[in-house]
Amino acid sequence: MDCLFCKIIDGDIPSTKVYEDEIVFAFKDIAPIAPVHYLIIPKAHISGADQVTEENSGLIAKVFEAAAKIAKNEGIESFRIINNCGDDAGQTVKHIHFHMLAGVKMGWGPESLGKTE
Ligand code: 5GP
Ligand code: ZN
Repeated sequence: MDCLFCKIIDGDIPSTKVYEDEIVFAFKDIAPIAPVHYLIIPKAHISGADQVTEENSGLIAKVFEAAAKIAKNEGIESFRIINNCGDDAGQTVKHIHFHMLAGVKMGWGPESLGKTE
């Protein structure tokens, strides 16, 4: 399967790993939008949040367990997890991934959706 993040997990494309276990892989985003910007992914290929089922949702729980471990390891007290699903939401890589953002005071509101009015 021609998937960028599967290749990163396999080591065929280099990345800066921040966490790995049997189920989950996490690495630095190549174009960070915050001082801390990691991508946390299940190793199993799930194309997006719209493909989460009763059978595979345990993998997503493991993603959140990993986020908590990473935060603890790195002394991160406050962080935001974002998942983009589908083109309009800005999903560019079709292997489910969770952006972990930290290290800056973050705003919240219509501006975060790119709305101007
Ligand atoms: P999306 O827009 O799909 O929610 O997020 C995809 C993310 O993957 C983007 O933030 C982008 O910067 C990151 N990304 C794309 N290609 C690579 C790559 O080759 N290596 C790494 N580390 N991140 C990548
Ligand atoms: Zn994949």
